[in-house]
Amino acid sequence: MALVSFDLDGVLQRNPFHAGRPDGVFGHIQRELTPYLDGEPEIAFKEALRLILAEHRARMQAGRYVDAYDWDDMTRLVAERFGYPGRLDVPALVRHYVKEPGMVWLYPGAAECLQALQDQGHTLVTITNGYQVYQEPILVQLGIRKFFTAMVTPEMVGTMKPMPAMFQAAESLGNPRIHVGDTLPHDIAGPHRAGWMSIYVVQPGAGGYAELPPQARDLAPWERPAVCTDWLRERLEHDRVLNDNPPVTFEECIPNAIVTGLGEVPPTVAYLVR
Ligand SMILES: [Mg+2]
Repeated sequence: MALVSFDLDGVLQRNPFHAGRPDGVFGHIQRELTPYLDGEPEIAFKEALRLILAEHRARMQAGRYVDAYDWDDMTRLVAERFGYPGRLDVPALVRHYVKEPGMVWLYPGAAECLQALQDQGHTLVTITNGYQVYQEPILVQLGIRKFFTAMVTPEMVGTMKPMPAMFQAAESLGNPRIHVGDTLPHDIAGPHRAGWMSIYVVQPGAGGYAELPPQARDLAPWERPAVCTDWLRERLEHDRVLNDNPPVTFEECIPNAIVTGLGEVPPTVAYLVR
């Protein structure tokens, strides 16, 4: 039986932060900060998020990989800079917004996929760059926390994906090992650096979705990477805009299989561990 690890955002779940929407966790923070920033409310609203994301990028570039995912700390830093008198508690906002209708959801087939893998006897874990204090309330709300033996997160390990230590942290739980994710540098190059196999998820309805090239659609998931070289290069360029630190090579980003929905994951795992 295998160890199967899952990236969360874009693979199993949509989280409640919702950059660009007025009604999620980021929208709440932006509404709170808007009166303390200069300029028209619409501009100030956008500026509040821009400043938080700029702090995230600055920390990434400085190699402060764990700090770069501390949304509570980054939010408070920006709030203090503008004299915001309150205390924005991002974990509490997450716990609030996961319960608001339409804020979080599972992608089609998520629970069925996890159930099928568990029924096949595999050990399931999550490996995500979101802190546990943000990710666990989402899993609980969506009813899938029960499937996972462990959650691996940056503040626990002291680094982030794609660093091999993120994957090595789960290795005592099973072998062979397969990671399932939707960001080539983090979820394909990362596990490969640790000697794991990988399944790349591209599913309609998730952010950054791109259709498979026609010649790949009717193939088995594990036959698709060989005919998707140009397409994978394009996907890597897309992912590099937000996730180019530390850099990875294209060769590290060629997955063992490409799935277009979570229903394809259990048969692909069965094939890869055969
Ligand atoms: Mg993801």
